[in-house]
Amino acid sequence: MNLKDYITDVVDFPEKGIIFRDISPLMQDGDAYRFAVNEIVEFAKDLGVDKVVGPEARGFMVGCPVAVGLGCGFAMARKKGKLPRETVEVDYGLEYGEATLQLHSDAVKPGEKVLICDDLLATGGTTLATVELIEKLGGEVVGLAFLIELMDLKGRDKIEKYTIKTLMEY
Ligand code: 5GP
Repeated sequence: MNLKDYITDVVDFPEKGIIFRDISPLMQDGDAYRFAVNEIVEFAKDLGVDKVVGPEARGFMVGCPVAVGLGCGFAMARKKGKLPRETVEVDYGLEYGEATLQLHSDAVKPGEKVLICDDLLATGGTTLATVELIEKLGGEVVGLAFLIELMDLKGRDKIEKYTIKTLMEY
């Protein structure tokens, strides 16, 4: 299956000059969604994953079905102010803007092996912040998986010491 058939390029969104890779057609198609999730589950199944962590919001859509496929738990990394209990937090830069990402303090236990899932790797800022949150809690990042990697932005350079899987490159 060619997953790129299910990605729609949106020019000048959310700002002029940016081509937004819209993954919603992929998720709206049951076969494409299942295929993409299964590819990530196959990649991760021998990594000994205890928990999947996904950053808000599209990281949930990738990470939750992967966690179910692996038979492990899922934890949400959310923008500041959204999680109701005690959190750890990290400030980070986005492709467009700045933000703070939080995890519940009990989301990852010390020594747990964690897979990070998100829809897209751009500058790597979101991913690096997610890695830092997990490591603050004593978790071990054993893999990172994305539907899409934007090669020009070189996000991979920020996370090169980790095992990375991407399903599509642009
Ligand atoms: P980074 O932090 O690597 O610069 O940006 C990645 C984050 O921004 C991801 O969480 C992703 O959801 C979002 N993002 C940035 N650009 C795009 C895009 O073109 N398409 C989609 N679907 N998400 C994007």
